[in-house]
Amino acid sequence: APAPPPARHLFSDPAEVEALRGNLLAWYDRCKRDLPWRALAATEPDANKRGYAVWVSEIMLQQTQVATVIDYYNRWMQKWPTLQALAQASLEEVNELWAGLGYYSRGKRLQEAARKVVSELAGQMPRTAEDLQKLLPGVGRYTAGAIASISYGQATGVVDGNVIRVLCRLRCIGADSSSPAAIDRLWDMANVLVDRSRPGDFNQALMELGATVCVPKAPLCGECPVKQHCQAWRRKLFGNPPKAPDIEDCGVGDCPLCPPATEPWDSSLGVTNFPRKAAKKPPRAMRTATCVLERRGCHGAPEYLIVQRPSSGLLAGLWEFPSLPLAQDLQEEREREELADHLQAWMGQPVAAKGLQFIGEVIHIFSHIHQTYVVYSLPLDGDVTLDPALSPSRWVTQDEFHASAVSTAMKKVWEA
Ligand code: SF4
Repeated sequence: APAPPPARHLFSDPAEVEALRGNLLAWYDRCKRDLPWRALAATEPDANKRGYAVWVSEIMLQQTQVATVIDYYNRWMQKWPTLQALAQASLEEVNELWAGLGYYSRGKRLQEAARKVVSELAGQMPRTAEDLQKLLPGVGRYTAGAIASISYGQATGVVDGNVIRVLCRLRCIGADSSSPAAIDRLWDMANVLVDRSRPGDFNQALMELGATVCVPKAPLCGECPVKQHCQAWRRKLFGNPPKAPDIEDCGVGDCPLCPPATEPWDSSLGVTNFPRKAAKKPPRAMRTATCVLERRGCHGAPEYLIVQRPSSGLLAGLWEFPSLPLAQDLQEEREREELADHLQAWMGQPVAAKGLQFIGEVIHIFSHIHQTYVVYSLPLDGDVTLDPALSPSRWVTQDEFHASAVSTAMKKVWEA
């Protein structure tokens, strides 16, 4: 078995743990943000509804800022206030409400999981982190811990990006914080620290601290309720730990949780020496030609063709203007010809590449893709018969376009 980490990286003093819990919870009671899912989790007497409310908020908050989520969350809960209501919704409705929130598979999986709870679990949410993770598709270790602690009072820790930052600073963990060894240690710590009588509040307090005080670039250490427990802060104030080994100190150069010897403590960074991460891979560059086809509708108003993306992969099931991924370094003339061929397959009639009007380029960054849309438009005179054998497609007015399940990237194309 691997040797236990040195004492300085652990919370091994019960008195310190107790003091840290008390300080953090007192701060949370004074300073917590007023958020709709918190109000619901605190006042809803039906445990099943509490679990559902926290679940929806946690899925929306993955990868998305709180300020953006609030409006989506309120509309979602108004439309589908219970698991049963969500289970009856169509995927199209879910995608329409989710449009603009990004990472669209989250909404789809949430709805699939709600259907599973209704059809296979008699409409009852699982009540422990272990069962939530095991039984609900799309619910990982973090989400399961959050639902179980906040909705059902299970004393189980959570580790998300905010918690990683706070814990790495509290205990000077400078190993790559995305490595499995460091992540395991951080979960152990979160489970040791979590308050036994108020686990949901404690977990939210730790995350809130990371979101509002112990922020990535300029943490507000002076206002921090746990600064007296923070080794990064102590190290910033008092400099490097003494060279002579003591019980608090790590072994010389071989501690798996200390910064690697090649990247020692940088005093100009202070507490932001932690956490550390291995360099991210740069996003993959992609170019896609997209064409806004416009016709006069039966009342004379312009209409635009949108087509549905495949039901799996990036932006699954969302609607977009007819689009075609392009090889890199293609000449503009060749891009037009390929797009014209693609549109011809849709419309069943020849499309002259010269008729495509170049509008401009629109850049959208997905988490792992740097996407450039090369935008064209093509006004049509007569009517067009679309091939029903191809993906679903429809003509929409401007208002219908904005109410449809379209991605933020396509809204940028529209603006162009
Ligand atoms: Fe974060 Fe500073 Fe508080 Fe330490 S003292 S936990 S670095 S805000």
